[in-house]
Amino acid sequence: MADIQKLVTMLNELDDQLVNCMRCGMCQAVCPVFTETGREADVARGKISLLDGLAHEILKDPKGVKDKLDRCLLCGTCQANCPSGVHVLDIFLKARAILTGYFGLSPAKRAIFRQLLTRPELFNKLTSFGSKFQGLFAKPVNDVLGTSCARFQAPVIADRHFPRLADKAFHKIAPAMDQPAGSSGKRVAFFPGCMVDKVYPKVGQAVLKVLAHHGVGVFMPHGQACCGIPALSSGDRDSFEKMVGTNAELFANADFDYIITPCATCSATLKDIWPTMVDDEGLKARIAPVSAKVLDISEFLVDVLGVTALEGASGKKVTYHDPCHLRNSLHVTAQPRTVIKATGNASFVELPNAATCCGCGGSFSLQHYDISKKIGDLKAKSVEDSGAETLATSCPACMMQISDRLSQRGHSVPVKHVVEVYADSLG
Ligand code: SF4
Ligand code: SF4
Ligand code: SF4
Repeated sequence: MADIQKLVTMLNELDDQLVNCMRCGMCQAVCPVFTETGREADVARGKISLLDGLAHEILKDPKGVKDKLDRCLLCGTCQANCPSGVHVLDIFLKARAILTGYFGLSPAKRAIFRQLLTRPELFNKLTSFGSKFQGLFAKPVNDVLGTSCARFQAPVIADRHFPRLADKAFHKIAPAMDQPAGSSGKRVAFFPGCMVDKVYPKVGQAVLKVLAHHGVGVFMPHGQACCGIPALSSGDRDSFEKMVGTNAELFANADFDYIITPCATCSATLKDIWPTMVDDEGLKARIAPVSAKVLDISEFLVDVLGVTALEGASGKKVTYHDPCHLRNSLHVTAQPRTVIKATGNASFVELPNAATCCGCGGSFSLQHYDISKKIGDLKAKSVEDSGAETLATSCPACMMQISDRLSQRGHSVPVKHVVEVYADSLG
């Protein structure tokens, strides 16, 4: 349990932010969890009311507060639509840190964050080991979507259709790089993120192909740690800062124009969450220049390299799902669509409700798979309704969630990252 003085300081910090909520309830109309459950405690207003009395509630019913706070995707839709500009995500992340300070971490989370994610070498070794033996526990179920299901009843996996760990992680396929600026005059640092590294290395390869095509020099050090959001979402600020610190060692003193990622969550974490949620002043100062240079890969292609949509393109119908972190946190919506249209061999169709959350929400889908599935099914239904032959998106976690729902509904629409669709068109 954290020392009481630290908790009091954190509670006071939170109070200052809670006063901005007018209790107007506009967030009800946009919250995907509230849409499914209809429970006031599941929407931002309800959670904020609860947090208002946190100092009191934490003594009366701390477990109840935690359970209600955990029923949130951290999708940021409420924040993006809040007329009072309440920093909902900031409040929820701080509140989770306070509650974790009060309760401590569960043994499983302690092992995952403190022993694994903060030690990239060990994390790499264990996932590489796991990839060799996963066939014993998982069997392929949909070749087009690349999904598998569990061979035996497994508590966390349940009836999920999931992508398997890659046979070879991206960091094993691609060498560490330190190239000078290419013909574009640009040099970028590349942060693939752990999902791309361990599950979707083909997305990382597509990024490198696209950068080489446009004459962009790449700085990509090995030994990168996770961006830290899984630990922070669970309230483990110490592990979060450790992961940020490992990445700061690699990137803070390097010379590059932008730091790019193909993971919407990583982009939002590096750009918005690192500067606001890191406590240590020294680390804050070191990462500030890195955060200021973060761009999503499609933002870089369109806004920096000038990639534009091609007129009169025709071909397979491709649609696009907006990852919450890209749309709500970074307000990047046009660029991924432009990248698809720039392929010249795809006819872009807009996805009905493209902006609604897919229901993944990281650990939310582990803790509340029943609600996560229902939200995901709405997205899968939209993909079916769009008539698209490919679903593209900009976040590996969304790829995983949408693949699960399509696969379980018996559909075989390939799910790809936008940068893969673009890289394919380059021949
Ligand atoms: S969080 Fe924003 S939208 Fe929701 S009730 Fe408060 S002020 Fe209204
Ligand atoms: S972050 Fe998303 S799930 Fe959580 S309260 Fe806001 S809209 Fe609802
Ligand atoms: S946001 Fe998700 S995919 Fe990206 S580094 Fe963090 S955990 Fe890995």
